[in-house]
Amino acid sequence: MMNTANAIRKITAAMQNELESGRRSTRIDANDLIDVLLAIADAIDPPLGDRVDAGHACPGCNERRQDLLVWQEDDTVRCGTCGMVYVPGCPGR
Ligand SMILES: [Zn+2]
Repeated sequence: MMNTANAIRKITAAMQNELESGRRSTRIDANDLIDVLLAIADAIDPPLGDRVDAGHACPGCNERRQDLLVWQEDDTVRCGTCGMVYVPGCPGR
């Protein structure tokens, strides 16, 4: 979790990058404001979503968010955060 000032700095920096690259207009409307506010809220308090048990977390980075841990065809799981492929419940592989 991030403190409020750092969350605002982080989102502001991201917006500045988008503006400098020309990917985002310098004019904002209500929808842009909503995006920014939600991005700040997510940075301060990431949406939890569904989490796996600690024993099934990624051994590489401890990721537990279910939507980032994807089952592979060979019964392993690929971590979307660090890229590690592992067998859930078998730490060290
Ligand atoms: Zn990981």
